[in-house]
Amino acid sequence: MSETKSDSAAAPRDYIRETIRDDIASGRIKTPVTRFPPEPNGYLHIGHAKSICLNFGIAEEFGGRCKLRFDDTNPAKEEREFIDAIEDDLHWLGFDWGAKACFASDYFEQLYDWARHLISAALAYVDDLSAEEIREHRGTLTEPGRNSPHRDRTPEENLDLFARMSDGEFPDGARVLRAKIDMAAGNINLRDPVLYRILHADHPRTGDVWCIYPTYDFAHGQSDAIEGVTHSLCTLEFEDHRPLYDWLIENLPVQARPRQYEFSRLNLTHTVLSKRALVGLVEGGHVSGWDDPRMPTLAGLRRRGVPPAAIRDFVGRSGISKSHAVIELAAFEACIREVLNITAERRMAVLRPLKLVIENYPQGESEELDAVNNPGDESVGTRKVPFGRELWIEAGDFMEDPPKKFFRLGPGREVRLRFAYFVTCREAVKDADGNIVELRCSYDPQTRGGSAPDGRKVKGTIHWVSAAHALDAEIRLYGSLFETPDPGSNGDIIDDLNPNSVEVLSGCKLEPALGEAKVGAAVQFERTGYFALDPGTTPGKPIFNRTVSLRDSWGKIKAKG
Ligand code: ATP
Ligand code: MG
Repeated sequence: MSETKSDSAAAPRDYIRETIRDDIASGRIKTPVTRFPPEPNGYLHIGHAKSICLNFGIAEEFGGRCKLRFDDTNPAKEEREFIDAIEDDLHWLGFDWGAKACFASDYFEQLYDWARHLISAALAYVDDLSAEEIREHRGTLTEPGRNSPHRDRTPEENLDLFARMSDGEFPDGARVLRAKIDMAAGNINLRDPVLYRILHADHPRTGDVWCIYPTYDFAHGQSDAIEGVTHSLCTLEFEDHRPLYDWLIENLPVQARPRQYEFSRLNLTHTVLSKRALVGLVEGGHVSGWDDPRMPTLAGLRRRGVPPAAIRDFVGRSGISKSHAVIELAAFEACIREVLNITAERRMAVLRPLKLVIENYPQGESEELDAVNNPGDESVGTRKVPFGRELWIEAGDFMEDPPKKFFRLGPGREVRLRFAYFVTCREAVKDADGNIVELRCSYDPQTRGGSAPDGRKVKGTIHWVSAAHALDAEIRLYGSLFETPDPGSNGDIIDDLNPNSVEVLSGCKLEPALGEAKVGAAVQFERTGYFALDPGTTPGKPIFNRTVSLRDSWGKIKAKG
């Protein structure tokens, strides 16, 4: 037996992949064909990434194919902007779908013919009931539905009405086409589901050619069949639609027999992943747009500096199953740190600057010191960092009256300046209000590179930026967009927004090498976190977004008192 990639120990195992293995073994298929079917009514989010990695991952593992198909059957909410953004985000995440994307709208003509096929077979009818009346007739989980008075129209009458619907004779909502299945079916989805509705709206691709549009249920499985999809993978809310999916495939002259399989959605704490809710955040101005760095969208995560590898890793680890689970946002952040710890270059940046003057360093002089770019990856080498008499350090790295375990600067204390020298604090200069505005220090020229020839040790190492060479920057620190783990559980999600989800710091000081930073590629600011240059940066005015913080052990010590 030849070994496919998926047989290796590292390959994920789950019931969908098991099914595919069985289908290959039994000869039902040679290789799987999957599809990712976004509706272009919003941007992709991390939940979609799970579906993307599953569909494209399976195609890759089994030597099959994965199609990108836009499920563009509701022109009222769909836009060209979303189609373009979805394609960009998929490429960024690392996936490709060959020559061109497919669209459900490519099949409108075929779907229309198949609708007529059902009508001719007395398996579909035009109904004049309003949406409200259809709901009333549908029954409940415990009570059967009632037949529409229009259910027994002849195929001829139905064909005529359906043609007139499509010719634009009737206003929106006046009539629908319904499958004629069983109003007493236990599964409500089989109680004569709607297949077509009238919508006089401009479609992003077909313009005003159509004024009737197929529903998701009618378009989806048939598009799968047209494209030769073998395994149509979707989230659990479609489980109850599967009998309808199969009914349509069985009753239409389709060329292929796709099958639907379900898995549970990815859910994250402190996060909303419903597109309707995300649209609300954007349209309500609660965020700056779909790519706001606090959004769980791929565009937002990218802008925050999250590497695609961390997203693929995370959704892969979340696993494929049918059980409902909510994953801690912290678990996602841990994945981001894990990837960036290996890949991100280190730089020095001071977020809340305090001036440090080295009194015994010669006036007007400076020198360049070697700094390691990534202690975990020698191949990225070192860079030069300018050093001089006046430096910026973090205000939080000095305490006037430090407790024992504070290993940074205090009066009379000595610390190492990263990659540079030992310095000792001589005096803290205060303004008229008693605020510390400057530290007067001395340095030991013998300690260049960070160690003392006499073997004396210092406990703390702090980062710094040369004042004469510093770049000024704005730095945005992000927290979670929602304060509560389960936003919206007690009503409106808007009430659960975290009012402190962003803190904007200005006048931050960067080492000059950060002038070369690239948009979206996160770097580690030593001791502070991972940050990425914002695409909205203008020349000479860098803006950095915090991707994720480093774990702060001092914060924990402080919290314990
Ligand atoms: P809506 O909220 O409008 O129903 P959706 O999030 O389902 O939208 P689609 O564009 O229909 O958006 O989704 C495309 C595919 O992504 C579907 O197959 C859907 O099942 C899958 N998907 C969406 N959200 C998640 C999620 N949280 N976890 C896993 N898969 C998801
Ligand atoms: Mg959906």
